Amino acid sequence: DPARLDGPPDPARLDGQPDPVPSDADPERGAEPAGDAGEIMMYYQPQIAIATGEMVGVEALLRWRHPRRGMVDPEELIRVAEQSAVMRLLTRRVVDDVVEQLAKWSAAGLSLRAAVNVSVRDLHTGEIADQIADRLTRYGVAPERLQLEITEGALMADPRRVLTTITRLHRIGVGIALDDFGTGYSSLQHLRRLPLSEVKVDRSFVLGMTDDTDDAAIVRSTIELSKALGLRVVAEGVEDERTWRMLHAAGCDVAQGWFYARPMPAEELVAWLARYRPLRPLGGHDDAD
Ligand code: C2E
Ligand code: MG
Ligand code: MG
Ligand code: MG
Repeated sequence: DPARLDGPPDPARLDGQPDPVPSDADPERGAEPAGDAGEIMMYYQPQIAIATGEMVGVEALLRWRHPRRGMVDPEELIRVAEQSAVMRLLTRRVVDDVVEQLAKWSAAGLSLRAAVNVSVRDLHTGEIADQIADRLTRYGVAPERLQLEITEGALMADPRRVLTTITRLHRIGVGIALDDFGTGYSSLQHLRRLPLSEVKVDRSFVLGMTDDTDDAAIVRSTIELSKALGLRVVAEGVEDERTWRMLHAAGCDVAQGWFYARPMPAEELVAWLARYRPLRPLGGHDDAD
């Protein structure tokens, strides 16, 4: 497939600077195959149903291990990729990898839902819907297992075309989450008009909610509003037990964050799950059982 991306974009474009070390002066570079651009891969972060402690899904997060710079900040990578056709190729690669991974988990008896982040321009043509439909069929993965996370920025750029694409995906059964809710161009119209299944409260509010009453109020109202509209609500950036307890008290459905687990490679997820012991919302650890 000529459109498949096997390597990441040109590293020199990341910061608009040429590589700081000239290649012929870098001893390590000589040992690398020419043009080694490092490795792109997916990490997965667990999403936990707050009431039961059960892991219900994962968010797939892109990682790029640069041969010399190490892990590159995903937001920076996405920002640069979005300026070119590279984003389209990255998204194709992400969808392929995640659907294939869902099929592997399913074969191993793990029925998970996986969420994939998509960028603004990924939704401007129907190409992504065609690709997703094709991959789900090819790997025998139920559409309900896949969810797309979109941000409201995507809707501002070309609302009509984006709505057409996500409506098609919704019709085939793929879930749509509104990511980073409360930042950017939040509009209550989006909650009413889009075929959404989930709202994700932005981590900036969740991170602040134990110390800042305004953040706490925003999180609580978003939970209430989402639930009143029949949408599942997910809090991201849950870093400690107090936050988790506050979210439980506020009726939040799902939590994601370092309190439970950091994003990790697919192989580690299976080991993590084998060790994972849910906490009881009002007691301590469940190891009293
Ligand atoms: P996002 O979609 O809002 O993803 C959630 C981010 O919160 C992730 O950052 C995750 O690692 C981080 N996070 C999770 N739990 C915690 C926590 O408890 N505390 C803190 N401080 N952070 C937490 P990450 O992996 O660096 O990704 C950043 C952003 O890059 C994502 O934000 C998303 O917008 C974008 N991104 C990542 N992967 C992809 C991709 O495959 N495609 C596209 N289009 N965008 C992606
Ligand atoms: Mg996301
Ligand atoms: Mg988010
Ligand atoms: Mg974000």
